[in-house]
Amino acid sequence: MKIILFLPNTTSHKNDSIWVKKKRRMGYAPTSLTLLSALVPKQLNAEVRVIDEAVESVDIDDWSADLVGISVLTANAPYAYALSKKLRKRGITVVLGGVHTTLMPEEAIQNADAIVIGYAEKSWPQLLLDFSNGRLKKVYRPEGWKEVFQGRAMPAPDRSKLHWNQYILPNRIEATRGCYNKCSFCVIPGFNQAHFSKRPIDAIIKEIKQMPSKRVAFLDSSPTEDIEYSKALMKAMIPLKIKWYSCATTKIINDDEWFELARKSGCRGVLTGFESINQQAINDTRKRFNKVERYGELVRKLHDAKISILGTFILGFDHDDHDVFDATLEFVNSVKIDILHFAIATPFPGTPFYNKLLNENRILHQEWEKYDGHHVVFQPNKLSPEELRNGFFELHRRAHSYRSIYKRLSGAYHSLGFRLIANWGFRLYGKYQMNHIA
Ligand code: SF4
Repeated sequence: MKIILFLPNTTSHKNDSIWVKKKRRMGYAPTSLTLLSALVPKQLNAEVRVIDEAVESVDIDDWSADLVGISVLTANAPYAYALSKKLRKRGITVVLGGVHTTLMPEEAIQNADAIVIGYAEKSWPQLLLDFSNGRLKKVYRPEGWKEVFQGRAMPAPDRSKLHWNQYILPNRIEATRGCYNKCSFCVIPGFNQAHFSKRPIDAIIKEIKQMPSKRVAFLDSSPTEDIEYSKALMKAMIPLKIKWYSCATTKIINDDEWFELARKSGCRGVLTGFESINQQAINDTRKRFNKVERYGELVRKLHDAKISILGTFILGFDHDDHDVFDATLEFVNSVKIDILHFAIATPFPGTPFYNKLLNENRILHQEWEKYDGHHVVFQPNKLSPEELRNGFFELHRRAHSYRSIYKRLSGAYHSLGFRLIANWGFRLYGKYQMNHIA
């Protein structure tokens, strides 16, 4: 049996982008498809190819496969459906999975031979066995994945299947899945029903020891939800002498031991979703544990532990008016956030944010390819769509001016090369987006 597992691009990462031309993805290697590769039952003796279009140009006319699995995000859904149609016309069986498939199963099923909803540790091997027996079902649900994930027999992703030198952080690993919170704009609660699952720490340590390099990125959406587990994992990682990167919510701020263990275990960077500098906007999203008045303190504590921070911000919430762009710029410069990621508020289908805007008749269209954080797809409350779009790109440009980079990076001198390169990357990325996003 020949299987191709495919991660398609979104419009924000077209094939002509510098990242693909240089054959270098800007960040992390994807793990979902390499995990699916590892889950293929051995008795099928299958030949598996994994393709990440972000670093590899593809021509599907050249594909020879019995079954193609496509991971679908909202922004690549129309493209994934078009690919699926072409492949199915050639007699190739197409299976769709991923976040968009999970949140919009009725839509996805119209565009595939079968769909996989949610995590697939149990359902994917079963699907392949059914396929080989000529008994493929239409829908595979996520029953049983948690027992595998939380057990010691969870396979490591098949990392040999990707071109690892094309990623800045090729070694990705999962320690936890899900999140207890229900932020209104986030797809994670819908994907995982607001559950939080943890792998055994000894299994994680074993997997890290098998990795080819000493730089590791955790891909967990909210790994600090259980802070005692997080600290136990960091204690166990100290002897490994690795450098690691991860998400962390602002909830860590009251636990000084967390910062100390993070420093000792080799944490070099965290990604934190600040979302907004407007507390009312934060409260509206149900992310009330984010306290704007303590953002600066969090950054200082991380810098004291020699940890860099990538802060993410969303523009266009209902409380945002014309002042939000200048105010956000001033804020990120003053609290010295090392690396910045801005996004236009995007109501992903299946989220409470989407349902609210739909009820208020404020969804402008359902062109999913534009649900990518760079397009305005709803009517903002205090801005026009053009004002939001232009303000967003202008903020991105100004926040990555040499003046802003200097202001943000001065005062803390750990990992200076890494922080400078990351800012340079985002500066280039913003220019590309501005020129290519219609
Ligand atoms: S935004 Fe973060 S904290 Fe909120 S639900 Fe999503 S993963 Fe959890």
